[in-house]
Amino acid sequence: MTNAIWFRSDLRIYDNPALIAASESNDPVIAFYFFTPDQHRKHHTGSVKLRFMLENLVELKHDLAKLNIPLVALLASDYGSSVALLKKLCQQHNVRQVFANSEIELNEQIRDHQATRELDKIGSTICFSQDQTILSPQDILTGASKPYRVFTPFKRAWIKTIQKTGLQSLPLPTARPKTNAVSTSAEEILSWEAPVDANQYWKPGSQEAFRRLEEFTATAIERYRDERDHPSLTATSQLSPYLAVGAISVRSCMLQALLANNFEWDSGSQGILTWINELIWREFYKHLSCHYPELSKGAAFNQKTALIPWSRDMEHFTRWKEGLTGFPLVDAGMRQLNTIGWMHNRLRMVTAMFLTKQLFIDWHLGEAYFMQKLIDGDYAANNGGWQWSASTGADSAPYFRVFNPTRQAERFDAKGDFIRHWVPELSQLGPKQIFDPNPFERQTTGYPATMVDHRESVEHVKQAFKMAQAME
Ligand code: FAD
Repeated sequence: MTNAIWFRSDLRIYDNPALIAASESNDPVIAFYFFTPDQHRKHHTGSVKLRFMLENLVELKHDLAKLNIPLVALLASDYGSSVALLKKLCQQHNVRQVFANSEIELNEQIRDHQATRELDKIGSTICFSQDQTILSPQDILTGASKPYRVFTPFKRAWIKTIQKTGLQSLPLPTARPKTNAVSTSAEEILSWEAPVDANQYWKPGSQEAFRRLEEFTATAIERYRDERDHPSLTATSQLSPYLAVGAISVRSCMLQALLANNFEWDSGSQGILTWINELIWREFYKHLSCHYPELSKGAAFNQKTALIPWSRDMEHFTRWKEGLTGFPLVDAGMRQLNTIGWMHNRLRMVTAMFLTKQLFIDWHLGEAYFMQKLIDGDYAANNGGWQWSASTGADSAPYFRVFNPTRQAERFDAKGDFIRHWVPELSQLGPKQIFDPNPFERQTTGYPATMVDHRESVEHVKQAFKMAQAME
C-alpha cells in the first residue's frame, strides 16, 4: 500500500504535520501537487506569486527526493479539476490514504469536502492536519463560544491557550521505502508560469526561509519595535513570501523568536515581543476568515460601513497603481510593490489609506490590486489590512483618523532615503523639498502635481461615514 501527501500551501518537508502523518507507517509515500492557475487568478493572485509557488515546488521536489518521496505535479486549472485528478492518481498508484494540511479559506474548504466525498467513492480516505495557524480557530473562542472580533482580547486568549498547550515543531520523517512513481521534471513545473522581473529578488526554498529567519533573529529582531516602521531600513524579517507558500511554518518562526526570548511571553526583549505580536495578528486575521466566510465574498466586516458610496474613478485608480499620485511616499510604496512584488508594512497602510480615504476609492479594488502584485499575497492578511485601512474591518483605524502622507514621510522616512531610492526623479531635492516639492520643482523634475487636497479629502470621508451610519 502507498500513502499520499497532497501539498497545497505548505511547500516544505520541515515541520509539516501532514507529511509526518503520512510517514507514520512503514508504507512508501508519494507526493501530489495540482497547479490551479485559473482558480488562483479568480482569487486575484498574480504571476509573481504563482511563479514563486512553482519555484518553491521545485525546491520541495529536491527535498522530498532525499526522503525517497517522488513528487507528481499536474496542471489542473481549477479546484474542481484538481479533485478529479487526485482521484485518478489515487487509483493509478493504489493509494488508500491521502494526508493534507487543511486550509481555512472558503473555496479551499469546499474543495476539501468535495475531495473527501470523491475519495470515499473509491474506498480511499483523506486525513487533514492543522497547519496554517499555530492554534486552530476553534481553540480561541470567547466565554460564550463566539469568535473574538477585537485583537487585544484575542491575543490575551491566544497566549493563555498556548501557555497551556505548549509549542513544538515536528521532526523530519525518516526516508521512506522506494516507489516506482516518477517525479515531474523541474522543467515541466516551471513551464506553467513564466517569471516576471520581480521574482529575481526572491530566492525560493525552505533553506532560504530558515536562513532569513536565523539572520533576522540574530540581528534585527532586537531593534524591531523601534525600527520596523522605517522603510529605508532592513528592519523586518521579509519572511512573508515564504510563509504565504508554506516554505516555512509559522510555528518555526514563533519558536525561534521564543527561543531568543527565553520562552517569555510578556517580558524580555521588547523587539522580540513586538514581532511575536505581529505573528499573532496573522493568526487573528486567519481565524476571522474562517469564522466569517462572508468576508471571502467581499463583505465589509463592519456591516455599518456597507452603505459607504465608494468611488470607482478609474483614472485616479490608475495613477495610484502606477505611483503617480504626486505624494512622494505613496508613490515610492507603489513603485516598490510594482518592482519587487513586496511592500513595507508601513507603506501598505499609507498607500491603502490614501486610496480609500484620500481618493475615496472602493477598498475592494485596492485589495485585488495588491493580490495581483504581491509575492506574499495572503487572502486573510490582505483583506484584514485593507479593511483596517478603509475603517470597515475588525479593529480598524477609526474613520476620522486619516494618515497625512506628507507627515508620514517626515516621520518614517525622515532623511527621504526611501523616497530617493524609489522616486529617482526627486533624488536631487533637498531634505525638506523631497516630502512636498513646490510647483517649479515638480515641473522641472517631471513629477506630477498632487491629485487631491488632504484636508478636503478628510472632510469628505468623515461626512460619508457619518451619513452611512445615519442611514443604517
Ligand atoms: P514582519 O514584520 O517581519 O512580520 C513577520 C510576519 O508576521 C509577516 O511575515 C506576516 O506573516 C506576519 N504579519 C506581520 N504584520 C502583519 C499584519 N499586520 N497582519 C497579518 N500578518 C502580519 N501580509 C501578508 O503576508 N500578505 C498580504 O497579502 C498582506 N497584505 C496586506 C495589505 C495591507 C493593506 C496591509 C496594511 C498589510 C498587509 N499584510 C499582508 C501585513 C503586513 O504588511 C505583511 O505581513 C508584512 O509587511 C510582511 O513583511 P515581513 O515578512 O517583513 O513582516
